[in-house]
Amino acid sequence: MPCVEALRLQAWFDGELDAVAAADIERHTEGCSECRALLTDLTGTRRLIRDRLTFGAASPALRERVTRMLDQEMPAPIRRPDLARQAAWRTRPFWFGALGGVTAAAAAATIGFLLLSARVPDVFLDELVAAHVRSLMPTHLTDVVSTSQHTVKPWFAGHADVSPVVADFAPQGYTLVGGRADYIEGKRVAVVVYEHGPHVINVFSWAGGPASSRLTTRNGYHVVFWKAGNLDYGAVSDAGWEELQGLVRLLRERSEQDARE
Ligand SMILES: [Zn+2]
Repeated sequence: MPCVEALRLQAWFDGELDAVAAADIERHTEGCSECRALLTDLTGTRRLIRDRLTFGAASPALRERVTRMLDQEMPAPIRRPDLARQAAWRTRPFWFGALGGVTAAAAAATIGFLLLSARVPDVFLDELVAAHVRSLMPTHLTDVVSTSQHTVKPWFAGHADVSPVVADFAPQGYTLVGGRADYIEGKRVAVVVYEHGPHVINVFSWAGGPASSRLTTRNGYHVVFWKAGNLDYGAVSDAGWEELQGLVRLLRERSEQDARE
């Protein structure tokens, strides 16, 4: 029976924990014989791989297959409470397939998110993620820089076809940094940009799109689609499922509030 900290120890071993979590797991491992044994195992395996294995590139066909499988992977119906409390947990995009599914299941259960089988056309999804990646290049993130919804919201009136929900959630950890107009499949979309710790979250919105509520991954990025009023939204980020869904939940609540006013 592995220790409950085994997953976190592996993340630490892969250099994926922040300083506080790393110190925490190092302290734990000193006093836990199971984790010390696991660490010896991991160290031995790493040494063997480095010493004995020759480097070989994956064929394009294999790479294609692995990427497709990761993209198709849906959240697994299991829950690990020890993962749920790790807001500081930082994962590399490649690992989302392995770890993202677990936290996604918990998050989906928490906010009652519907997982629908309706498919968003793949070209659209590809372009959404490409737009997210493009936005991360210097000077591409925002057209209007402001942490005030009263600046960003009116800006869209002249630069986009839709008026999305805009709000700063800095107290909850999601800081509004600005807005941008973008093009997805020739359609002009509004993008509201948030920062959450080291992560950028792009929230795309458009009218009458093909999306319905669902979670998916593309090239290692998490994507959440939902509908609010007559607008479709798509949030893209390398943040963890729970972190991303935290913002989605806030935005959905805000949309409902706006609709009542
Ligand atoms: Zn342990």
